[in-house]
Amino acid sequence: QNTLLASTGTTIFTVMSALATEHQAINLGQGFPDVDGPDDVVQAAADALWDGRNQYPPLSGVPELRQAVATANARFYGLAVDPATEVVVTSGATEAITACLMAVLNPGDECVLVEPLYDTYLPVVRMLGAIPRLVRLTPPKWEFPRAEFAAAFGPKTKAVLLNSPGNPTGKIFTAAELAFIADVVQRHDCYAVCDEVYEHLTFDGWNHIPLMTLPGMRERCMRIGSAGKTFSLTGWKVGYVTADKSLAATVAKAHQLLTFTTPPNLQRAVAIGLAKDDAYFAGLSSALAAKRDRLAEGLARLGFGVLEARGSYFITADFRPLGFAGDDVDFCRALTVEAKVTAIPVSAFYAGPDAPAHFARFAFCKKEAVLDEALARIEAWI
Ligand code: PMP
Ligand code: GLN
Repeated sequence: QNTLLASTGTTIFTVMSALATEHQAINLGQGFPDVDGPDDVVQAAADALWDGRNQYPPLSGVPELRQAVATANARFYGLAVDPATEVVVTSGATEAITACLMAVLNPGDECVLVEPLYDTYLPVVRMLGAIPRLVRLTPPKWEFPRAEFAAAFGPKTKAVLLNSPGNPTGKIFTAAELAFIADVVQRHDCYAVCDEVYEHLTFDGWNHIPLMTLPGMRERCMRIGSAGKTFSLTGWKVGYVTADKSLAATVAKAHQLLTFTTPPNLQRAVAIGLAKDDAYFAGLSSALAAKRDRLAEGLARLGFGVLEARGSYFITADFRPLGFAGDDVDFCRALTVEAKVTAIPVSAFYAGPDAPAHFARFAFCKKEAVLDEALARIEAWI
């Protein structure tokens, strides 16, 4: 059997969700909202099934969704995108990440990755025979180490994979950081895979800037979005890649090999979602910001060292002030089994040695009453 897969463990999200179910814990681990996205979008998906949207759609996505992705690129970021040639719809951002990496990496190429990182990145880079070069953000502010980042690039570097807004950090790369990254990428003649699934989940006036919008980056970036995050419908697995025509054609080839197409009724519904008015997008982030504040304030009151989260639906918290004896894996297990609240150990987002082992990640995309109950359980436990 394949040695890389044999050495890949079950994803931490599945492991912790199973533990949550076993112990009837409130699951603030795996990131999924406990309220489904907009009724009209869900209704549109149901209607499309009765409207004959049940056979293979076009390989790159149904025309309505490709058009909607192109329109959203113009509306939110001023990007001019040709829906016919520059958008590829995938079965979730997960597939999109793999397809984009497949599109640019050859065996022996190097790919720069930033820790903490999402758990599919590294195994996929390795499966492609490419060599990962890891750079680490520095907590508690998740600072971007510019010199180390630049030093990670060399003659064999073909791509960088960047996640902003970040999971689990909630970090949003600033315009200055992005300008630095764009310069390094261009000097080394590389591509950038941009995981921007949390593009619309930003808080406190922090706006997401796609790396693709920077001068010289339009042809180098593959920008990935996810309907799961933007419409609180994580089970749908509809993702979309925006890239220049030549890159998009290669991403489409990868998509052809991975899944070939994505359910047509869901695509049509997501197209309706992307056309929603500004109030929808503003409401999504303001509702989440209130939940973030509720959980962050509650955890801080209980003694956690809560880190700032500017985007995504996660906060990370340092549990050392509570005096717990053990690492983050022990802590999240004890929290689940004893307090009956589940969180994710942040060390799971690291591959290199000496990962920080004193942070837990909490998902706050839950009803207020659920967050309150989780806090009450933790308070009773500590
Ligand atoms: N990238 C990041 C950073 C994520 O947090 C997620 C969420 N699961 C994904 C990609 C995958 O998104 P999707 O569910 O659309 O495959
Ligand atoms: N992206 C989600 C998270 O970080 C979960 C995705 C998954 O379960 N694979 O929690």
